[in-house]
Amino acid sequence: MNRRDLLRAAAAATAAIPAGAIPNQTRFDLDIRRLNLRHKWTTVMSSSDYRDVIYTSYTRDGVTGHGEGAPIVRYQEDAKSGLRALERERARVMSSNPWEFEKLMALMFHDINYAYAALSAMDIALMDWVGQKLGIPLYRYFGLDPKDAPITTFSIGIDDPDKTQDKVREAAQYPVLKIKVGLDSDEATIAAVRAVTNKPLRVDANEGWKDKNVALKKIQWLATQGVQFVEQPMPADQLDDLRWLHKNSPLPLIADESVRHASDIPALRDAFSGINVKLDKCGGMMAAYREIQVAKAFGMKTMLGCMVSSSCTVTAAAHLSPLVDYADLDGNLLISNDPWRGVTVDGMGKLVLPDRPGLGLQRTTA
Ligand code: MG
Repeated sequence: MNRRDLLRAAAAATAAIPAGAIPNQTRFDLDIRRLNLRHKWTTVMSSSDYRDVIYTSYTRDGVTGHGEGAPIVRYQEDAKSGLRALERERARVMSSNPWEFEKLMALMFHDINYAYAALSAMDIALMDWVGQKLGIPLYRYFGLDPKDAPITTFSIGIDDPDKTQDKVREAAQYPVLKIKVGLDSDEATIAAVRAVTNKPLRVDANEGWKDKNVALKKIQWLATQGVQFVEQPMPADQLDDLRWLHKNSPLPLIADESVRHASDIPALRDAFSGINVKLDKCGGMMAAYREIQVAKAFGMKTMLGCMVSSSCTVTAAAHLSPLVDYADLDGNLLISNDPWRGVTVDGMGKLVLPDRPGLGLQRTTA
């Protein structure tokens, strides 16, 4: 090529980039996706046939990272406002260096301190991108041994005794069940479960017991029923009652609704034995990692939980699961249209982490 041809080719190449285009082909896509539940899902807080989640994807240099966030109604979050919050951050996301994800996420946490599921969707997409670019699964990025992944419980939502027993039978693969309680029917629910299985149980009252004496009586009875611990027995705003309950309870208490962020943990040390960390509560994998480490520093037990989510969020949480004592990562098992295959559960109920780069997600036909 002579000099004139070279100049002509260079000019043509420049002209091929439209005004305003990002030369490294960065893309940031946002959407709301509806996940359909296999069974109507009922807790003391809500009942529904589907959940809407925020979906994100971040593409740069030929690699796409995927993320998802399930907004939590308890904290006044919803998918539409979460999506709008991320949309307002578009210019910053497009112009930031994704390798400096810590700085980008710190700025976004400062701006969007009300939409943590949206922040989680962003964080997961970036971490998936980083893991894929490095060519390593995310558990390796965090220095974890996938063989240390715990078993996961399988959750049984509130239902009548017959349907509860059907769900327990369907959960044959899982060695420990998590039973949703928090109503006057708790004793009947546990009796129905105990009529069909001897497995260890964990129970979650979702703030359902309002009186500390009633709560203590329930827990004393549950301790005779092969229950290992009780999650969030009373409302988060009754912290003094929770402290009294913790002092008198024969079973460990685990905080869920009481704890969203690492900064909540010091005030909970004398009210709970441990905390339930969820990416959708705290704002993603990096925030969850910090929260787990703070809880450990205070000598508290740690648990990773999830909302109703696809395998995207559940796999992101699972990559951190070798760090924790307990896992309740079954949100993807409760839906019928999971777009992804990621973490799986073996015949003993143990989480099996994908060893592909990043989150290690593969698309399904759903
Ligand atoms: Mg809970």
